[in-house]
Amino acid sequence: MFDISRRELTLGAAGACAAFGLDKPVGFVDAAYAQQSASQLFRKYQVGDIEVFALVDGARNVPLRDGLVKNVEFEKVKAVMRGAGFPENQAPLRFIVMALKVRDQVVLIDAGTGGHPIYGDGNGRLFESMSAAGLDPKAVKTILISHLHGDHIYGLMNNESNAQVFPDADIVVPAAELKWWTQPGVEQIDLGPSRKGLAQRIKVTVASWKNVRTFEGEPELLPGVQAVQVPGHSPGMVAHLVASGSKQFLITADVVNLAPHIATNPEWQLAIDQDPQMAVETRKKVFDRAVADKLIVSGTHWLMPNAGTLTKDGNSYAFVAEG
Ligand SMILES: [Zn+2]
Repeated sequence: MFDISRRELTLGAAGACAAFGLDKPVGFVDAAYAQQSASQLFRKYQVGDIEVFALVDGARNVPLRDGLVKNVEFEKVKAVMRGAGFPENQAPLRFIVMALKVRDQVVLIDAGTGGHPIYGDGNGRLFESMSAAGLDPKAVKTILISHLHGDHIYGLMNNESNAQVFPDADIVVPAAELKWWTQPGVEQIDLGPSRKGLAQRIKVTVASWKNVRTFEGEPELLPGVQAVQVPGHSPGMVAHLVASGSKQFLITADVVNLAPHIATNPEWQLAIDQDPQMAVETRKKVFDRAVADKLIVSGTHWLMPNAGTLTKDGNSYAFVAEG
């Protein structure tokens, strides 16, 4: 079990800042944190009477290349990576599916990669992680989708036949997102290798399934779970705000794909965000709200534990992992 105290994180940030001559402290600073294995399959958080689970679906190291951060020199990006305890040539990502347990009902937030080969080997471990967490896939009656990228929806469908994995569940998708991915000519838009074939697959699956419903705006989707508009990474992406008792937990999906770096550099424009400038504006809005409202925030691609709190730190933010 991974274990690090708040004090160690704080000292680590100060030390790295001094050691690497960075102009800002760095969040997530600890080599052990950066190099942790994906062996920890789940984590559980209590939000009032709702249990929130982080379920590991897989992991991947994304090669760092010039242009991944569009508005920052590559050498500066590499320096921040080193300062955060990461190798300077690759960024470790996780694929994490969030789940809620409300009484006997299990709600999934997104469905992971489905083990699709485009995301590399060893992914698609959602059912294994659910089993480790004591969650029965048959108890899943609702799936809330943040956005329609493959690493969030391919877990809904069989990789060969496209048959539904959760045919008895209601699948709840932001209307703007479904509209964007089914607009005429969308298949011709080049969104990079990881999104190749995605629009076509959405058309023959999610867009035609009878158990999919859409919504506009920021409604309460389930008792205690509200949609929050967070466009940028994908045009119609939403986050999910879980509130119960005195606690609020914001499942931010892909508002921040490289948390350790973007928390300290929220202005970084990532090439993997479909509208990088809008993604920056959304990120700052979400982070500021998280600070003001003392939210626990989680991200799909952060390392475990992938939830914690943020504090404002000049123009950047410091993240302290929860638990
Ligand atoms: Zn993603």
